Amino acid sequence: MRLVTFQQGAAAPRIGALERGAGQIVDFSVADPDMPTDMNGLIERGNQGLQMARAAVDNAGDEARIDAADARLLAPIPNPLRNVLAVGRNYHEHAREFHDSGFDATAGADAVPEFPIVFTKPNTAVVGPGAPILTSLDPTNSVDYEGELGVIIGPGGRGISKANALDHVYGYTVINDVTARTLQHRHKQWFIGKGLDSFCPMGPLLLTADEAGDVRDFHLTTRVNDEPRQDAKVAALIFDVPTLIAAISEGITLIAGDIIATGTPVGVGIGFDPPVFLKPGDVVSITIDPIGTLENPVE
Ligand code: MG
Repeated sequence: MRLVTFQQGAAAPRIGALERGAGQIVDFSVADPDMPTDMNGLIERGNQGLQMARAAVDNAGDEARIDAADARLLAPIPNPLRNVLAVGRNYHEHAREFHDSGFDATAGADAVPEFPIVFTKPNTAVVGPGAPILTSLDPTNSVDYEGELGVIIGPGGRGISKANALDHVYGYTVINDVTARTLQHRHKQWFIGKGLDSFCPMGPLLLTADEAGDVRDFHLTTRVNDEPRQDAKVAALIFDVPTLIAAISEGITLIAGDIIATGTPVGVGIGFDPPVFLKPGDVVSITIDPIGTLENPVE
């Protein structure tokens, strides 16, 4: 299923399923009033929630279907329960590009890390598709994009093995790990540079794992103003999705609804010489096939 959180006018956000190709959203609140009203609630219901969602889609009459053009999509999880987990330097060529850029205050002699580099972005940074990236919040004028696969955790747990890790994946989304490079560098830890309000665009939808196929086959491309910047297969991750889940959960309990941004491939703005930063008027589009396209204007 292609799950969405959407809003019509000033009404409260609701959840539903985007029907592929149909341009319609099945509004779960109408199709089945017993369903949870937000995405965190649905994810917490696990398989039972997914079964309710499938039945809602299968049985939805016209009264439960709205024209997708009449709704505004929000981040599929607009209010994550806690910080978004994220992974640094997780594609070889990007690790080299970042290492060579001079903006990495943490790099040792090796560009490629021996263990996953995990940091977090505050949940207040999350915005949906179409929401502006606010460059005015970065006093150093060094805002950069990072197109990334986002993994949504379903059943939580601690000590999850690599072999079982994919059983804990609820689905996938697209994330832009927007970064103020000078803040990232000067504060050493990345929280401030990657945590500004609007610096975690997410969406346009949550593709459930049962319909996603093999995540290694996912194909990520990023464009800035229609100029191609990033192009990679998820199979090129240094630490793959099961490895990340195992590493994070080794001593930290993952909870339903946790989000892991898995890292960005080569082609970010600091890979240019001189660096090319985002400026007001730009548009960043990140597509992950088969999820969809996350597009955000820069303000
Ligand atoms: Mg990143």
